[in-house]
Amino acid sequence: MSTFQAPKGTYDLLPPRSATFLAVREAISAPLKNSGYGYVETPGFENVELFSRGVGESTDIVSKEMYTLTTKGGDQLALRPEGTASVLRAALQGNLHKLGGLPVKLWYSGSYYRYERAQAGRYRHFSQVGAEAIGAEDPALDAELIILADQAYRSLGLRNFRILLNSLGDKECRPVYREALQAFLRGLDLDEDTVRRAEINPLRVLDDKRESVQKQLVGAPMLRDYLCDACKAYHEEVRALVTAAGVVFEDDEKLVRGLDYYTRTTFEFVHDGLGSQSAVGGGGRYDGLSEMIGGPALPSVGWALGVDRTVLALEAEGVALDIPAATSVFAVALGGAKPVLFGLVTELRRAGVAADISYGGKGLKGAMKDANRSGARFALVAGDRDLEEGVVQLKDMESGEQVPVALADVVDTVRAKLA
Ligand code: AMP
Repeated sequence: MSTFQAPKGTYDLLPPRSATFLAVREAISAPLKNSGYGYVETPGFENVELFSRGVGESTDIVSKEMYTLTTKGGDQLALRPEGTASVLRAALQGNLHKLGGLPVKLWYSGSYYRYERAQAGRYRHFSQVGAEAIGAEDPALDAELIILADQAYRSLGLRNFRILLNSLGDKECRPVYREALQAFLRGLDLDEDTVRRAEINPLRVLDDKRESVQKQLVGAPMLRDYLCDACKAYHEEVRALVTAAGVVFEDDEKLVRGLDYYTRTTFEFVHDGLGSQSAVGGGGRYDGLSEMIGGPALPSVGWALGVDRTVLALEAEGVALDIPAATSVFAVALGGAKPVLFGLVTELRRAGVAADISYGGKGLKGAMKDANRSGARFALVAGDRDLEEGVVQLKDMESGEQVPVALADVVDTVRAKLA
């Protein structure tokens, strides 16, 4: 193994591609910041029980994919595999739900860890931007989140994504359906693992992608036929509000998602250019989660969008984000002009102009190469003779045009030309 190899299933974000990741995080969070969501940041690890109780002991995420560790002090911790349980825990600990004014609306951005079989689009360390609206049962809130995710993807220029929508029912109607489904699944010819899954979490079997399983699922009881009146009415209202906003979705009765805490509204954003790892984001309502982790009843809804897969989706669609050059002005010092130009660069930076300078004592040719590579719009070039005349040469890197500018006027001139 090479010394310079990142761990399996992980990769580094390096320039220039890393700029796209920053832009994606920014684009996803912008509509949230604009819609009453406050920023929340929680630790990268939590006590293991938060996830085993919250996400669910029987889920793949908890049973197979969690990175767990015992600290020197004997605490059982887990690297966070998802964001919702942590954010809810933090809101409860901070008593945000008692400050009045529910829902508590929060957004976050960070790293998540799952010990998965690594493949394209599926990593052991990945990054999500998420949103949670805690403590209110209101179809408008579910609709808001779906609409904001759609807005985020569209603002990035993504087009080939689809929104899948379903209702998973609530604690009244889902258990009845669960039993009916289990009875149906017991009559099928399934492998040992799937039989076990059918007993613990039968809805997940509907999600099985294998043809051999899907073939047998024809005629399975559908949740839609078991939804109670309250769930049906709630779902219809979500659908109506999303539709009224002009956001197109598909009803997907088989959408169940891999986390146990979802109730009623569930949705997923899929992109058709990503092969098997097509989910770019997902979420839903989790009315029972707060109680599952020991809190009061706080019906809530949220989503998490995967940054890595959103970048892959942009690449699959050939969308290049409009990322401005990191550097606007690049200084090239000749002879003894370095201290003066270095001073000018400092001044420009303090004035908010992105500026850089050639390092390492290069000659004109090497320094101009640096200027080109930086993508700067202007180069500031000066040698001893320029300084004797009290000027620097301001070179437009696009037109090649060069004009002398008095030292005292450099900052104002550059700012005016960039504006
Ligand atoms: P989930 O919490 O599983 O619903 O995931 C929400 C989103 O996070 C998914 O739609 C993906 O975009 C992203 N995601 C989840 N797991 C991974 C992973 N192992 N690698 C990359 N992205 C992931």
